[in-house]
Amino acid sequence: MDDAALVLFSGGQDSTVCLAWALGRYARVETIGFHYGQRHAVEMQCRTKVLHHLRTEFSQWAGKLGADTVLELDVIREVSESALTRDAEITMGANKLPTTFVPGRNLLFFTTAAALAYRRGIKVLVGGMCETDYSGYPDCRDDTLKALQVTLNLGLERRFVIETPLMWIDKAATWRLAEELGGKTLVQLIIEHTHSCYRGDRTERHAWGYGCGACPACELRARGYKRFRESGSEP
Ligand code: ZN
Repeated sequence: MDDAALVLFSGGQDSTVCLAWALGRYARVETIGFHYGQRHAVEMQCRTKVLHHLRTEFSQWAGKLGADTVLELDVIREVSESALTRDAEITMGANKLPTTFVPGRNLLFFTTAAALAYRRGIKVLVGGMCETDYSGYPDCRDDTLKALQVTLNLGLERRFVIETPLMWIDKAATWRLAEELGGKTLVQLIIEHTHSCYRGDRTERHAWGYGCGACPACELRARGYKRFRESGSEP
């Protein structure tokens, strides 16, 4: 199906905007999520809520939103020592990468997603990777994903296209894109129901949503939201 897309959907802000982006472009959109031994179950709870609200609050998208698949990729936890999968401090590692880096994660995610898309006859894979104001994760780089697209097409003998609509925009522009795609309703949905915080904290509600307010993911989200509002968008 040329008019179908499979979105890597985690329940976070970025993948929710990507999902809305895909719903605005393709006739049929499916989602895929992964359990990979995350320390916090909160993201997985959020993704169910986001899907529910997209179905009930956006009549133009409800009919396009198809199957959601959640897969176990526990092997990631078995082989990695990331602060996202172990009780470790979130800091900068000796390799100049944050300890939240999970080696191989996006490579495995896309490879698994491609295998599902192969079965379901879907050509387009969508991910929320971004190298504009990111944490330096090498598997979020445009070059990595372009190379992976070539690898998947050779290895599976298909013509997959990996779309990364957030690759060249910053966090403020991601909020703006959400507003363009789904208006204030989508911005509100993202604030209330998506999750970014590395610590899995949902005890405090800030203007930009729930989170500890101090981890790198919260700081990035809060800073982007502030700039988005300063650029003239009314709450
Ligand atoms: Zn946080």
